[in-house]
Amino acid sequence: MEQYQGKTVCNKIAIGKIFLYHKKETQVKRTHIDDTEAEIRRFDAAKDYALSLLDQIYKKALVEVGADNAAIFEVHKMMMEDTDYLDSVYNIIRGQKLNAEYAVAATGDNFSRMFAQMDDAYMQARAADVKDVSERLIAALHRQKKESRDMPAGKEARASDSALPKRDASPSAYRADDRSAVPEPVILMADDLAPSETVQMDKSRILAFVTRHGSSNSHTAILARTMNIPAVIGIDFQDDWAGKTAIVDGYTGTVILEPDTKTIKQMTTRMQEDENKSLLLKELRGKQTVTKSGKSIRLYANIGSVSDVAQVLQNDGEGIGLFRSEFLYLESKTWPTEEEQFRAYKMVVENMAGKKVIVRTMDVGADKQAEYFHLEKEDNPAMGYRAIRICLDRPEIFRTQLRALLRASAYGRLSIMFPMIISLSEVLESKKLLESVKAELRESGIPYGDVEIGVMIETPAAVWISEELAGEVDFFSIGTNDLAQYTLAIDRQNPKLDSIYDPHHPAILRAIQSVIENGHKGGAWVGICGELAADTTLTQTFIDMGIDELSVSPAFLLPVREAVRSLE
Ligand code: PEP
Ligand code: MG
Repeated sequence: MEQYQGKTVCNKIAIGKIFLYHKKETQVKRTHIDDTEAEIRRFDAAKDYALSLLDQIYKKALVEVGADNAAIFEVHKMMMEDTDYLDSVYNIIRGQKLNAEYAVAATGDNFSRMFAQMDDAYMQARAADVKDVSERLIAALHRQKKESRDMPAGKEARASDSALPKRDASPSAYRADDRSAVPEPVILMADDLAPSETVQMDKSRILAFVTRHGSSNSHTAILARTMNIPAVIGIDFQDDWAGKTAIVDGYTGTVILEPDTKTIKQMTTRMQEDENKSLLLKELRGKQTVTKSGKSIRLYANIGSVSDVAQVLQNDGEGIGLFRSEFLYLESKTWPTEEEQFRAYKMVVENMAGKKVIVRTMDVGADKQAEYFHLEKEDNPAMGYRAIRICLDRPEIFRTQLRALLRASAYGRLSIMFPMIISLSEVLESKKLLESVKAELRESGIPYGDVEIGVMIETPAAVWISEELAGEVDFFSIGTNDLAQYTLAIDRQNPKLDSIYDPHHPAILRAIQSVIENGHKGGAWVGICGELAADTTLTQTFIDMGIDELSVSPAFLLPVREAVRSLE
């Protein structure tokens, strides 16, 4: 038994087997081939295998995420069978007498470049898909080569073999560059995880996240907390940990490798205690979020996807204070259409059944990257081309989202919130766009509801002009994660600075106080949706300051309610 110390991200414990996820660019060698027809047969067999896998993934996605989201795998299958694509691969093998892996990689690169250069945004987005398809084919060719090496003579790999290793499989089954290949619910260990990767994971198969790099204030960490999955960062795991049993203690930030029976028993007892505590907290469902002397606040939840709503309802969220809509864009391989977005927002407002749902317009950029946005690499991405800046610069993207939001507002209580605001003109311009989208809908006879407008206060500039901003909006929501980053000049992604990233800094607390005062003066209500909202050591302070709403990850709803109810 060995113990490793990292940093905690989400206070929960998990016990399970380790799955090592190595993100790696597939290495492809360029090799001369004499028997080109045998190479073509090898390629065809790999293609059939890859197609059968895609078919399995499509069927699984159909059940888990619905036909719209699963459709992308149908597109991938079509690309894999496209005659132009296949002709290019065959020509390289036959004409240049080169190996199939190289032919696929070269074809993938050429096609993806061609798509990226097209004018049409939909076709541009296919560049990432064709790369994906080529990677899948190369992985199938590699697997086939490895199997023919490992297989006793006379036995052949079957294309119909399952994509997923069997239970109790060998350690190699617990190591992959494909997140969907996890053999059972596992502790997933990776160098680092991008928010887009985290959000696409099959949560039912992840017991815990452990990463070598990353910061506790990153969006990946926030997602782990939203998903209520134990997580620890800063663990220098080794390759031979694959398939071994470990305990992830999210309270202390430790990972225990190959724990002995006594430790497993102790930890199982603590997990049971956690379970009991959460059962006790469940008794607070249906109770008011009110202090003993009768001061009440609204207790809302932060979500990143439609599926998080279930947790909000289970934990009695009084509304949704922050729907990070950018994750709809990150989950997708291409621009989510108006219809797709409309369906997502509508489902959230309908499920919240008349409770307020605040959707933040997309905050893509910085660490939240989607390939099809084709954002340039920047020296200071956190202070770069992101969020409202992209939306106002590319109004066609913004209008699509606003149309979808307004249409969904006819089905419940939806509010719209703009992120990363630094000036009054950004708010005025956004509102003007919103009005013109409303006019467009009215002309077409499409209904929309009464929508409250708010802004996130997450830059020092917004704090300083909050009095002016309050006159233009219905509410403020203080984003303490970014407010701390910009006020303290600390990159929230930089793990070296985690220890001095201090949202309790007097500069942050004074900023919150003055935003609440300015908001109220101008007639806007004020909430907090950054991670600090869930910090129960500050609940009293926030109530004394006059906060109207706190919005927290679903798992923190009942603990915060308990804290409020214990105050005088
Ligand atoms: C914040 O900055 O506090 C916030 C809620 O937004 P995000 O964490 O998504 O940047
Ligand atoms: Mg923010």
